[in-house]
Amino acid sequence: MSSYRIVTIPGDGIGPEVTASALEVVEAAARAHGGLTLEVEQLDASAERWKRTGVALPDEALAAAAEADAILMGAVGLPDARHPDGREVNGDVILRLRFELDLYGGIRPVRSFPNVATALRSDEPIDYVIVRENVEGLLASSVTRIRDEVAIDNLVITATGTTKVSELAFRLAERRAGKRRVACVDKSNAVAAYAFFREVFDQVAARHPDITPDHIYVDAMTAYQVLDPQRFDVVVTENMFGDILSDLGPATVGGLGLAASGDVGDAHGMFQPSHGSAPDIAGRGIANPTATILSAAMMLDWLGRQHDDADAVELGRVIDDAVVRVLAAGQVRTPDLRGTATSAEFTAAVIGALA
Ligand code: NAD
Ligand code: MN
Repeated sequence: MSSYRIVTIPGDGIGPEVTASALEVVEAAARAHGGLTLEVEQLDASAERWKRTGVALPDEALAAAAEADAILMGAVGLPDARHPDGREVNGDVILRLRFELDLYGGIRPVRSFPNVATALRSDEPIDYVIVRENVEGLLASSVTRIRDEVAIDNLVITATGTTKVSELAFRLAERRAGKRRVACVDKSNAVAAYAFFREVFDQVAARHPDITPDHIYVDAMTAYQVLDPQRFDVVVTENMFGDILSDLGPATVGGLGLAASGDVGDAHGMFQPSHGSAPDIAGRGIANPTATILSAAMMLDWLGRQHDDADAVELGRVIDDAVVRVLAAGQVRTPDLRGTATSAEFTAAVIGALA
């Protein structure tokens, strides 16, 4: 039986609430199905910690995260926890982990769920994945301010980084039972760095003749995500574009409370809901834990593939199926989906649905 060391970073706001739900589900699934055990260590890295101590992510926590088999994060950040230059301190945790552990691929599925209303005109199922370049682009540069008058960020696109994230996107398209397409989303008509991103993407595409490449400008992309999202399979894009498109996509199919994500590299993986710490509903026990539960399922799938462990892959699938069953039944729903259930009631329903 395999055993994995997981570190959790519950973080701020609703982060600890949704992380606890996801862990409860994973532990129940592991108990019911056997096959693996988890050793869980909780790390304190948060905006809350920064307020107390001036450090959001201590070096020891970074080292522990680097040694773990995977990281499960809730959400980090509070709107009033900011550096003097205006940036929130949550970057000290999330961006630093992405950069230091080279988590270059942000994998963000956009999928419709049975019996969850979408904001779209067609009821045809939606199932695509946004692969966000996670460690370069517009988020790679440190802000430069001149005389409190000019602030400059650089858009950094490298051949190596673009090749790695494009390869990840094509491999994903090859193993998904999807449309076998990868779309490169950029603004290459107007910005040279994006033209370079596209050029490198095309070189990778040429090595994957079994997959059809597409090119879409980012502005048109936002319209397609609303008007014709069924056309997509895998989408790969620069860091900042990926950040924005991966909030838009989930908003069309039930909201951020359902949106899972994984930040993965060759050696490390960090899994977290796409949403933030939701300070407006924190502490009330009504956050939707679905996104975090599905992120934990992605974590098990990723661990299984990394370690050639069919049991872990299967456990991820079992958890995903249970969530879909509860949503499809429609009786137990949190307020963001117009229900009245608490996070605890929803979590219990998912555990009850683990087949
Ligand atoms: P947010 O995602 O926290 O909240 C946006 C809206 O969605 C809010 O109305 C919130 O109540 C709702 N919402 C989000 N998750 C929900 C859930 N699981 N169930 C029900 N409703 C949910 O975004 P924000 O308000 O822009 O940011 C709040 C803080 O979170 C900021 O400090 C921000 O920097 C941080 N943040 C962190 C991450 C992360 O940890 N990866 C991502 C985005 C934002
Ligand atoms: Mn974001």
